[in-house]
Amino acid sequence: MCADATRNAPSASLYIHVPFCRAKCRYCAFFSEPVREGELEAYLPLLLEEMALWAGRLGRLSVPTAFFGGGTPSLLPTDALSRIMGGLRQHFDLAQGVEITLEANPESATQDFLQAARSLGVNRLSLGVQSFRDEELSLLGRPHSARQAWEAATRARSAGFANLSLDLIWGLPGQREGQWLESLRRAIELSPEHLSCYGLSLEPGTPLAEGLAEAPEDERQLPPERELAHMYMHTGDILEDAGYLQYEISNFARLGQACRHNQACWEGRDYLGLGPGATSTLGSLRWTNPEDLRAWAELVREHRIGLHQRETLSPEILAQERLMLALRTAKGLDLAEYRALSGQNLLATHSAIIQALRQKELVRLNKGRLRLTRTGMLVSSSIIRALGFE
Ligand code: SF4
Repeated sequence: MCADATRNAPSASLYIHVPFCRAKCRYCAFFSEPVREGELEAYLPLLLEEMALWAGRLGRLSVPTAFFGGGTPSLLPTDALSRIMGGLRQHFDLAQGVEITLEANPESATQDFLQAARSLGVNRLSLGVQSFRDEELSLLGRPHSARQAWEAATRARSAGFANLSLDLIWGLPGQREGQWLESLRRAIELSPEHLSCYGLSLEPGTPLAEGLAEAPEDERQLPPERELAHMYMHTGDILEDAGYLQYEISNFARLGQACRHNQACWEGRDYLGLGPGATSTLGSLRWTNPEDLRAWAELVREHRIGLHQRETLSPEILAQERLMLALRTAKGLDLAEYRALSGQNLLATHSAIIQALRQKELVRLNKGRLRLTRTGMLVSSSIIRALGFE
């Protein structure tokens, strides 16, 4: 496997999963746990060992982007972050101009942490704001206030972050469009280079989803579809007026400030995931590290990490994934690339449905690319299903 992976992956983006949070947010289904004593100390040497293992197997990968996600990477003590950055430099070849993103939460993004992160080479900060309304933050179980979020963004600027992204969530229970737009406008006032605006996804088993499921139907208070559609369409209009380009269903950026890490993943490039729960795709091989600290630690110690439960993706699956990810982006799907990957001419195999989608102005065909319009992006899952892909 390693020889294959080496051949297929002279260059790969890195994802480093930091699976600790101060407490669990009510809507969260990501792999993260409230941090317990001693866990961070145990995690760090194993993460460094995992890097060394991959360097031994693959040689020095050239790394165009690295992304610290979580969890809450801003909970890392600064000396731990320093050792991780040292490990990255020791074991990988960080390309010139490498983009290094770190996800931070407002309450743990202290001035000291942000300054240390910046001086260690982190050059893009993704701040989890989610809302600028305290009652919404409390509904979501976020461990910070709107004011703390604002102050954290200000601290990020004074720590020298010239590339700041803010995460927001819209479509919350009980939320009216005006309330969502209030958060959006507050975010724009901070002039971030990048904004991610995600529609709330009610994940089964989360306290938020269970609370709503138990409430009588008329008390669920999720905004009606029509209002959600207005929120989405107005978000795009307002952000465009403010100088942001939509480059993916939920992502907007100033010119040249799109997240290169996410773009690489959406374009089907290789990425290596480190840490518990991290997924990797190298060539046609894909695996996910165990979402369990102990199980991950055991595999790292036994040098079996990445050698268990690997999946070999067929050319058909890779082509389908490429189509689904590309259709989420403003660039759209390169039909020639799709034909090269799948051996099929999408316009011929799906001509009737593509014609119908064009008539409804849900997709456009231009310069050999199939793109969703903004209205199409609103119903992207249905379009992807209509094209016969899940
Ligand atoms: S901070 Fe992020 S990863 Fe942690 S519990 Fe909240 S949403 Fe989940």
